[in-house]
Amino acid sequence: MQSFPDSLADLKSQGHTLIGCFPLYPPLELLHSFGLSPVVLWGLRQDITHLTRSDRHLQPYACGVARSLSEFVLSRGRELLDAIFMYNACDTLRNLPEILESSLDRHGASIPLFRLHIPAVPLSRPFASDYLNERIRDLIGELEKFTGRSFSAQTFLNSTELYNRQRRLSRDLERLAETGRIRFADCSDILLSAGRMSLDDHISILERTVREFNGRAPGHQGVRIMLSGILPPPVALLDAIERTGLTVVANDIAALRRSYDYLPAASADPGAYYRDLYRNHYPCTTILPSADSRLETIMQTVRESGVQGFIFVGEKFCEYEYFEIPAVKRMIEAEGVRTLELEIGMDDALNLDAYQTRIEAFAEMLCHETRGSRRDNDAV
Ligand code: SF4
Repeated sequence: MQSFPDSLADLKSQGHTLIGCFPLYPPLELLHSFGLSPVVLWGLRQDITHLTRSDRHLQPYACGVARSLSEFVLSRGRELLDAIFMYNACDTLRNLPEILESSLDRHGASIPLFRLHIPAVPLSRPFASDYLNERIRDLIGELEKFTGRSFSAQTFLNSTELYNRQRRLSRDLERLAETGRIRFADCSDILLSAGRMSLDDHISILERTVREFNGRAPGHQGVRIMLSGILPPPVALLDAIERTGLTVVANDIAALRRSYDYLPAASADPGAYYRDLYRNHYPCTTILPSADSRLETIMQTVRESGVQGFIFVGEKFCEYEYFEIPAVKRMIEAEGVRTLELEIGMDDALNLDAYQTRIEAFAEMLCHETRGSRRDNDAV
């Protein structure tokens, strides 16, 4: 597969105006409606081989997502990105704009930067939704100046419909993995590739894959597990999960399910659209007003999907996720679901053997227990 920087270089050579968006849930539809091609800078870890520039500005105990995207922006941003978009997703990301901006300025490599502040209080409060409306209006004004285009309600509506199409197809693809028709590792790879290509190309790939695998018979179903975390684990670990007899039947990954689970109503009004999107978003630790409903949502998925094992894929130093894990663990273990905690840091991508061993041991225990409970049922 092409590296992330090479994919962006290809897009640029095809005439795309690229806006690099910091995770997690930027207003892609609005950026797209101005003729920009937004790419979310998720999981650059496999393509970032050193952190020379980033380490001058960020402490080593910042998460790998922030460190690798900072390195990418500082070293290749000027060459590959036409603009950058950031919002206050988490404490780590909210502090990056000034740091990156001053470093880029100092090296004569400035990149136009757009920001949005999303209220950290429930959008059901009138002042919060008015505030978001104003911030969206400001952003529209800045985008008009940058692109030389006027905002078009019809174009925005078209963009919201396209992104909803992508979300629907992403959910369809995930369901194919749940029934064993496609490997979860392949499904995850296709879903994450959205950040490397144009929206139209990604929709075409999703359509083709869903059509192809829909016709297949359900695959072998192993022990049913759910994954949770910011990013899916590296491919080698997904392979280990499936090789050892586990089937990923549900996920609560921010770059996957959390990103496309909720389908906002298509709308020509950006204020109304983003109020709906951020207010009803799949609960995420970084969307503070939604955090309270996470336990209930996870529990519901665990029950509905018949989950027997739960793997936390911790992003090292992501305090948002780590504050929550003990509560989730207590809750689902009380339900009789086994749990495994993995912690993946910047330096672990090339040293995955220990994680594979832990997955193998977890799978062995789960398979043994499942065989035991089948024998007990047969005896009754
Ligand atoms: S991994 Fe956590 S701390 Fe890092 S950018 Fe994502 S939400 Fe923020």
